[in-house]
Amino acid sequence: MDGSNTSKPKFRVAIVGGGVAGLTLALTLCRDPNIEIDIYEAANQFAEVGAGIGLWPRCWHILRQLGVFDDVASKKPDFVGDNTPTPVFRFRKGDQSRGIDFWDMRTPGGLLQIHRADFQSALLAHLPSGPNCRKHLSKRLASYSETSPSPSSPVTLTFEDGSIAACDVLLGADGIRSAVRKQMCKELGLGSGDPVFSGKIAFRCLVCTEQLRAIAPNHPCLSSGMEFVGENGFILCYLINGGKTVNFVAFSFMNELEGTRLDGPPVRIGTREEVMQHFGHWDADVQVLLQCVDAPKRWAIEVSPTLETFVSGRVALLGDAAHGMAPFQGAGAGQGVEDAYLLGTLLTHPSASLASLPRILKIYDAVRRPYAQEAVRRSRQAGMLYTLRDEQFRDIGILAKQNGRAAGQLGAKLNGLAHAIYDIWKWCWTTTLDGDVSRAIEMLRAQ
Ligand SMILES: Cc1cc2nc3c(=O)[nH]c(=O)nc-3n(C[C@H](O)[C@H](O)[C@H](O)COP(=O)(O)OP(=O)(O)OC[C@H]3O[C@@H](n4cnc5c(N)ncnc54)[C@H](O)[C@@H]3O)c2cc1C
Repeated sequence: MDGSNTSKPKFRVAIVGGGVAGLTLALTLCRDPNIEIDIYEAANQFAEVGAGIGLWPRCWHILRQLGVFDDVASKKPDFVGDNTPTPVFRFRKGDQSRGIDFWDMRTPGGLLQIHRADFQSALLAHLPSGPNCRKHLSKRLASYSETSPSPSSPVTLTFEDGSIAACDVLLGADGIRSAVRKQMCKELGLGSGDPVFSGKIAFRCLVCTEQLRAIAPNHPCLSSGMEFVGENGFILCYLINGGKTVNFVAFSFMNELEGTRLDGPPVRIGTREEVMQHFGHWDADVQVLLQCVDAPKRWAIEVSPTLETFVSGRVALLGDAAHGMAPFQGAGAGQGVEDAYLLGTLLTHPSASLASLPRILKIYDAVRRPYAQEAVRRSRQAGMLYTLRDEQFRDIGILAKQNGRAAGQLGAKLNGLAHAIYDIWKWCWTTTLDGDVSRAIEMLRAQ
């Protein structure tokens, strides 16, 4: 598709960051050929770091509206995507030598689990190429300047290579270490804008299914997603790549470090020994998995500071730049998709114009910020549940050590835990963004 249009554009949008949020925004905006889009990506290619990603029905609904869902879903060959109750994870209390299965979590349609690179390539494949949607690689934003609030004066972008560009509205989708957020916070007197350490480390790697099968042909991860929960950590595994690979993530919690600053880069190559140190005494099936773990990536999970606003003048933040969260509900990317879709829908509304840009951004902030920040809270709380730190479930560890003498009480507690996890998570499959989109459009019309 060629998104070219020869008439003068309505306005020029600069998207900084070509991750999930930035690309979804471009996809939403390119429905209006009168908007000129420039995507500036720091890396020398659009490449998703990481391994698997899970997407919930709230996100599917948006991807369907953007016409990209079928391509994304096709990356998981057995995926149906209707409302049938579908297994997602089997939950096991795993921090003991013989774990206790306590819940087969099913949700309508399940969770779409794919490789991140597949998700990104599906988004890219749907973006038009042409003068109205330009992609610039190796362009790392250093700073921006909005010298005048007047929409007729441009926002200027300066890149680390010394080059300069101009736009009418700057949308920062530049991830957890966002340069746009840092500058915005500084200018608004809202602190440094730096991310903080969540106190959680994720060890991530891809395990070859055949390797796992050779060691343990009946391993539960070969037939279902598994979540091994326990004190101070949990492990998540699910199949991707058409079942050829197990996506393995082990989260180690060091809550006393929550809110501190990280020294150095958040990601490095870790070792199996580091994972063993935390999980070496866990369930036998975990030990088998650990035999297959090789050179895991060690991610110190950072989160965004809680922002009083996502916007300033004609500059806005979205995705992790706005609300980077702990990944305990598989909802971070989905929330970025929601930001992008709502913001893009407002900007492509027939009444949107150069003059209305600041107002549009304020509406985006008013509608999206409370929702996204609530998702951040829920995600953190889910982590408390998986690690048995929630007040109601703290005695599960003690009950489990009583060698069956408290079996009834333990069973009831684990059942309660399953309900609590479901309740805090169900927004991902029982609700949609539609109401907020309509509300935002009403606000735009009313002003
Ligand atoms: C262990 C783990 C597991 C997760 N699992 C899930 C899951 O299952 N489901 C889910 O929904 N979410 C999950 N998430 C969260 C999800 O990965 C993020 O929320 C999502 O990737 C954020 O997308 P984004 O586009 O906002 O930012 P990013 O993906 O970080 O993209 C930002 C882009 O901006 C570029 N950039 C950065 N700085 C600049 C600059 N100065 N100038 C230009 N470009 C720049 C970067 O190169 C990058 O391409 C997980 C996160 C982690 C850590």
